[in-house]
Amino acid sequence: MKETVNEFMDLLREQTSYGEAIGLIAWDMRTKAPKKAMDNRSEVLGVLAQKVHEIQTSEAMRNCIDKLKGNVSDPVVIKCLEEAEETYNKTAKIPKDEYRAYVTLQSKSESKWSEAKAQNDFAGFLPYLEKLVEFNRTFADYWGYNGHRYNALLHNYEPGVTVELLDQVFPKIRKALTELLGRVKEAPAQPDPSVLKGHFPKGQQTAFSKEILKRMGYDFDAGRLDETVHPFAIGLNVNDVRVTTKYDESDFRTAVFGTIHEGGHALYEQNISEDLSFTPLATGTSMGIHESQSLFWENFIARSEQFWENHYPLFQTYAPDNFRELSLNSFFAAVNEVKPSLIRIEADELTYCLHIMIRYELEKALIAGDMDAKDLPSRWNDKMEEYLGVRPDTDAEGVLQDIHWSGGDFGYFPSYALGYMYAAQFDAQMREEIDVDKAVREGDFRIIKEWLKEKIHRHGKMKKPLEILTEVTGEGLNPDYLLRYLETKYKHIYQF
Ligand code: ZN
Repeated sequence: MKETVNEFMDLLREQTSYGEAIGLIAWDMRTKAPKKAMDNRSEVLGVLAQKVHEIQTSEAMRNCIDKLKGNVSDPVVIKCLEEAEETYNKTAKIPKDEYRAYVTLQSKSESKWSEAKAQNDFAGFLPYLEKLVEFNRTFADYWGYNGHRYNALLHNYEPGVTVELLDQVFPKIRKALTELLGRVKEAPAQPDPSVLKGHFPKGQQTAFSKEILKRMGYDFDAGRLDETVHPFAIGLNVNDVRVTTKYDESDFRTAVFGTIHEGGHALYEQNISEDLSFTPLATGTSMGIHESQSLFWENFIARSEQFWENHYPLFQTYAPDNFRELSLNSFFAAVNEVKPSLIRIEADELTYCLHIMIRYELEKALIAGDMDAKDLPSRWNDKMEEYLGVRPDTDAEGVLQDIHWSGGDFGYFPSYALGYMYAAQFDAQMREEIDVDKAVREGDFRIIKEWLKEKIHRHGKMKKPLEILTEVTGEGLNPDYLLRYLETKYKHIYQF
């Protein structure tokens, strides 16, 4: 048995090593690589990805799983077996030619989508979208599911979360957020975001962002900060977790809050137990838990009054002159402005989840077969008007805005809203156990970072998302924490 365990762990080591190389190439392509390198580099990526796929679905892997399942006691090996088997089954259940056709469709669709978005041409993208939906419906049927077909897709991003659960939680949040939004709009104290304008050189923004990352406990000896068009964090291994950011010299919020957001993702990856290295468990457990970590730092910490009490004077030393005259109160209110908008990634904390619910409802209908892809633009626009009170003039700023569907990623969007809810639950629990406000006011985040590491980060993928949530907070998914947090916050800022 020991020999088979070694053989199995070697296969995982090989697979994760290729994975690390793929990650590094992907990081390079998105940050530093010269334009002309792209074609070759894509070929290399394809070859390496094929290699990973071969290992995951190899006979050697199947044999190891069959021999070891039920016969090992090491908890890490048991979890690795679960992961490996799930990956194996997922691919094995799809006929090879269908899988190949799907991969080709994915890469074509992404470039088609970006053209369609640029030219506001939904009709040009529609045939691709229809095929992607069809493939995902078929795959869900191959994989199998209980209840709604969409559950099979949700499982890929947030195992344990189902349509049945989301359909309980989302309507409740929607009702509460819509009411809160109404009160915010009518409130006497309206923040003035124009006070945040001013030329803020890139170098100064980088210096401030780096300082905050350091204070959060991000280890620059095991990471770096670079510039990209679309910011991201990538964990190559626990000792190499990189973040990127985007600069807008006329609006510091993009880089500052963006860097803190990605820093939250990175802290998760930097603090996974080294015992899990070279296994598929050495990463965040789900999209939703990952997002809870980035949102916790971005919103619950870095958009709090306590945070700016400490950091505003430091910020002013980097900021343009006009910030010297700007009071902390006006600044704090301005960075927390609520404004229903068309674009998800620009949404504030209050309206963000409404954007997600629209996508969730449309995806669910597409996958169930209750709606045709051609009806998406009108359904999208109607829902935007109903939920947020704004209506897109073009599909580019409507249904075409997100990349997800063009890559076939149906079932992904709910993770973002789950991340908000998880973050609020973790935040409430943390406050029961440690003095968060004091730490934030003093700008010493060590106690917070350690709490997150101990409760969440170190486990990597050893625990499922709802398992972590329940173990840490003592209860399952509960939207009340998020609603209470938002209500308290906006009552204070908008004075109602
Ligand atoms: Zn994120």
